[in-house]
Amino acid sequence: MKKNIKDYNLDDLKKLIIELGEKPYRAEQIFKWIFVDNVVSFDDMTNLSLELRQKLKDNFDLHIFNILQKQESKDGTKKYLFDVLDGNAIESVLMEYKHGFTICVSSQIGCKMGCKFCASTGVKFSRNLSAGEIVEQLLAIERDEKIKISNLVFMGIGEPLDNYENVMKAIEILNNQKGINMGARHISISTSGLVPKIYELADKNIQCTLSISLHSANNEKRSQMMPINNIYNIEELMKACRYYIEKTNKRISFEYALAKENNDNLSDAKELVKLLKGMLCHVNLIPINKIENGKYNKSTNENIIKFRNYLNEKGIVATIRRELGSDIDAACGQLRKKEVDRCKYMQKPI
Ligand code: SAH
Repeated sequence: MKKNIKDYNLDDLKKLIIELGEKPYRAEQIFKWIFVDNVVSFDDMTNLSLELRQKLKDNFDLHIFNILQKQESKDGTKKYLFDVLDGNAIESVLMEYKHGFTICVSSQIGCKMGCKFCASTGVKFSRNLSAGEIVEQLLAIERDEKIKISNLVFMGIGEPLDNYENVMKAIEILNNQKGINMGARHISISTSGLVPKIYELADKNIQCTLSISLHSANNEKRSQMMPINNIYNIEELMKACRYYIEKTNKRISFEYALAKENNDNLSDAKELVKLLKGMLCHVNLIPINKIENGKYNKSTNENIIKFRNYLNEKGIVATIRRELGSDIDAACGQLRKKEVDRCKYMQKPI
């Protein structure tokens, strides 16, 4: 397979273009065609000579995803199933907020983390997505919807910190002012808690928002929900989070999916307050979405509100996340590879 030209940031692209015997400014032109004009063919790069276009075609691919399926929720959220051109497929979700469009991207095909409440875990891990494949999710939706997306969250399928290099490269590409020009502040990385990578991210000191999928302040409970807790327990995770805050001076967002009679009692809220007291943070409460064959059920609204109020009373800023796209299985934890496996038998993209 030819190299995916979207895997290169501008500096790398310059080197490649020089290797092809061309002037470096050509790289800027190409970069703009790819990431600003969002073209689907090298032939659309009309300010390049025919010869250069041919050289690009011989050496690279624009890696344009096929849309295999697109579903729209009652609330306007859209879920895309993309053919990533090697027989695999992934999902991305587009949400519209008052401040603009947010895309939720996948970072891997499948996930190794095994969280018991998350549908993405259901199917075996296949591979990491490359930087270009992460960015192409945004470009493909912008082409399809004819919109500009302003925010991006790594909350789709996969564990972004388990694909650290490619995710960092994708962020560099997204940030580049000569391309998509999405500021790091508009990007969130969500992790199940890969402690060594949180330290690495802290030292890198980029301005992205870090979200930690906490879900319980109690080791026994968290280990039941998230096997990763057996490797990096809550104490180690919190130590890494404190280091992150100290290094970046940024507030961390803790995700807490409330499951009925599991982690939604007042005693759970008390443990959470004890854990987070005094920390520069925010708690995002998510009514857990039940997954097929999953043992966790959504908390009652009453409990969710009680839980939030208790945290707020104790000085911990907590908000309840608005659920988007649950009717099309596009909400948190509902992305999966079911469709992905089905698509292998589909004949043609739509
Ligand atoms: N692997 C990363 C990112 C993907 S999940 C992580 O674990 O953070 C994005 C968010 O959705 C995480 O906070 C995750 O814990 C949450 N989530 C997963 N399954 C869910 C479910 N069934 N209901 C509500 N939230 C869920």
